[in-house]
Amino acid sequence: MTIIRSHASDVAIPDVDIFNFIFPPGPSIGSAVPSKKGKLAYVDGVTDEEIGHDSLKTLCEDFAAVLQGKYGLKERKVLGVFSPNDVHYPIALWGALRIGCVATTANHTYTAEELTHQLRDSGAKVLLTHPVVLPVALDAAKALGIPSERVLLFMRDERDTSQMAFPTIKELISEWGAKRSKGEITLRRFNLGKDAKDTVAFLCYSSGTTGRSKGVMISHKNVVANVCQLNGIQTKEFSELCKDVLMAVLPFYHIYGLILLIHMATFRGNTTVVLPKFEPQHFLSAIQKYKITSLFLVPPIVLFLSQHPAVDQFDTSSVKTILSGAAPLPWESVIQLKKRKGFKNVVVQQGWGMTETATAVTMTPLDDVRVNSVGPILPNIEVKLVDPDNHEAVGVGKEGEIWVRGPNVTYLGYLNNKKATEETFKDGWLLSGDIAVADKDGHLYIRDRMKELIKVKGLQVAPAELEALLLEHPAVADSCVVQVPDDRAGELPRAYVVLKESHERNNLDDIKASINSLFESRLARHKQLAGGIVVVDSIPKTASGKLLRRNLRDRAKQEWAVE
Ligand code: AMP
Repeated sequence: MTIIRSHASDVAIPDVDIFNFIFPPGPSIGSAVPSKKGKLAYVDGVTDEEIGHDSLKTLCEDFAAVLQGKYGLKERKVLGVFSPNDVHYPIALWGALRIGCVATTANHTYTAEELTHQLRDSGAKVLLTHPVVLPVALDAAKALGIPSERVLLFMRDERDTSQMAFPTIKELISEWGAKRSKGEITLRRFNLGKDAKDTVAFLCYSSGTTGRSKGVMISHKNVVANVCQLNGIQTKEFSELCKDVLMAVLPFYHIYGLILLIHMATFRGNTTVVLPKFEPQHFLSAIQKYKITSLFLVPPIVLFLSQHPAVDQFDTSSVKTILSGAAPLPWESVIQLKKRKGFKNVVVQQGWGMTETATAVTMTPLDDVRVNSVGPILPNIEVKLVDPDNHEAVGVGKEGEIWVRGPNVTYLGYLNNKKATEETFKDGWLLSGDIAVADKDGHLYIRDRMKELIKVKGLQVAPAELEALLLEHPAVADSCVVQVPDDRAGELPRAYVVLKESHERNNLDDIKASINSLFESRLARHKQLAGGIVVVDSIPKTASGKLLRRNLRDRAKQEWAVE
């Protein structure tokens, strides 16, 4: 077996932009989707605020009028979104796409420095943010020269008078919606056919296989394709899936939430209950209150459901399926979960994918869950498992790097980074940096990650970024950051550092404390060195100076097991 394909037939993927795909002007696209009339699209799991499928399109167009009329955004200009989940998040994205703009979605736990990097790199001209992260957003806006008049909020904390200076998305939608109905503004036409393949819709940031985080240019076609592919594998049950009530506790800014919880859900006509963060009691009570049928999770939350005593105090019997993705799922947590009374009959699916594949490449079918497997390949995709040394495809049961080809692969590459694009996308294949084996039926099993990436609670940590910051510390001469395993987070970053001669005799605890405080002031929580800092005499390198990460990874694992 050289190329692995889906057993399901290929699905039709229309040449259309995202807005016209989600809100088709005629009955042709999505004709298999049952009527969405009268159904709720998004419900705020904290305030109960509701947005119906019937009103979504108009709200998006009204927000498009805001971006076009108030902020003067032209085609290809970038809207930055820096916020925890909010029911208006999808409206903001589709409002931008409606007039040919691009959206870049940023992790809301970023520091001002991290956010500044993303906004500068993507060239964002308007920033939509949230009261809980407004100070960080304003620091980044100031650093970039984005005037405060170009900052708007999802909502305002009315107790904080300083926020009065910033309009909310709802106020602006109402103001510009009124102008639209009076004919005072007409949205410019934006309608992609075949160009959907080459036109950027989203810039999501990922470090890929090496280096620092880069803007992945996700095309309209990538998103449309993945939604069609995800629906294609489940054709028999499709109309049932359209009735699902989903929970959006995973962040919308990450590709997993962006594609499945926003695009797939709205295309199907699902109702999505939106939570701004994972808070155990609130999460459980929302499952009970809204009778959630389908959970989209990362392994640490599956682990929580399998272990936490509070879970039994809530009625979770409405949940039929749980999809886990973004990081390896320890199968033991699935076994434990299915022993709990509220989850006895739940089907735990896994999906594997990357930002660079506009999310899912594989997905466990509901009727064929195999232990530890991330499932077979979705329709329209080809996968090769390749020996990383000689680039030969390997056969059944043999480990190889996953190479992917298909319409959801982000061939437009990384923004302003030709070198990384050429290294990652070769001869039409995306080189994933993940190692897997396939069984005889083409179901994949992820075995290892050979790229530099560390995953903390499913979130990306790029060692290169942490190593660059370590070098800014006055005591550090050299460093290498690798992962150590952790039951709760999956992995944690651990730094090996070589000290400058002038600091060798200083107190090590003081040096480590000052490295930690440097990290706290500059990087988000998931990038902290929670796996520890180890002082070493030298970092193992090849004769040509390349870091031997693998050696350190193995050493770190052994040390960590006995610490
Ligand atoms: P991201 O671009 O943040 O989605 O990260 C993609 C990476 O997350 C993949 O290349 C894998 O290393 C990891 N990943 C995603 N899904 C899974 C999964 N189901 N099992 C193991 N690792 C996964």
